[in-house]
Amino acid sequence: MNHQDITQLYKEQLAVWDDFRMRVEQMQAIEWKTFDFGTFRIKAQFNPARAVSSNAKLDKASIAKRKCFLCPENRPEIQKGLKMNDRFTLLINPFPILLEHFTLPLNQHKEQEIKPYISDFLDFAQMMTGHTLLYNGPQCGASAPDHIHFQAVKRGQIPFEEDYKQVARKRIFGDDDSHAEELLDFGRKCILIESSSKEKMETMFLQLYEQYQTGTEEPKWNIFLLYENNAWHLFLFMRKTHRPTQFYAEGDDYMMISPGAIDIAGVFVLPRREDFDRINKEIIWDVLQQVSL
Ligand SMILES: [Zn+2]
Repeated sequence: MNHQDITQLYKEQLAVWDDFRMRVEQMQAIEWKTFDFGTFRIKAQFNPARAVSSNAKLDKASIAKRKCFLCPENRPEIQKGLKMNDRFTLLINPFPILLEHFTLPLNQHKEQEIKPYISDFLDFAQMMTGHTLLYNGPQCGASAPDHIHFQAVKRGQIPFEEDYKQVARKRIFGDDDSHAEELLDFGRKCILIESSSKEKMETMFLQLYEQYQTGTEEPKWNIFLLYENNAWHLFLFMRKTHRPTQFYAEGDDYMMISPGAIDIAGVFVLPRREDFDRINKEIIWDVLQQVSL
């Protein structure tokens, strides 16, 4: 498995899968707005195709009722996979939010949780240096909280990938080579773990995991991961809740805003025209404060 194999899979799927190709073509016409908050940027995307996902019922009963779209036996026959290691497979996401959007499900139907798979996650980032990897916590945006999966999108589409290099930081622990640091003036709570040692990455990750865990459930995190300059950069976007008050409001106050990992990292996905027309810095700031720890 190398970069060429990934490009090959993507091209082949585009060539044979008409619905997928149509959605990718529609993405070229997507409307964007960019909001500059000085130390970071948030982009908004008008994407009507995402209405189903934004509105998805994510309670246990609703999840149990539907056929899991990440299980091999339920995937469309046209969907081909690439073996990442003995446990995970790389698939194209047939409902992309961003270009070259992949999902990486475990080959078995097991709950979405990060702890047993952090080593795989770090490996995948190293195998996919042209992409940004992400993990959506089961309570903060994952559309399949019952089946562990990661995602990957082509690098260079999400503002945080560059923004984090500019902001001030406060060290939590570690030294200049391996550390956990909080990003300051970033609009939402984000802790960055960096090291060129995989072993140290895992140790630091587990230390924060235990620090932020309450009860038996995992901390509410949207996680992003980049491998560049021979080191891992793992971002913990810490969440308080999944959906803001706007999502539950009635009448004119209602907005279809259901922030998952990609939204919190800087791309707000808005499936309704009226929400896209109305979105502004005040609303974005308000939503970030509500859903972020
Ligand atoms: Zn499944």
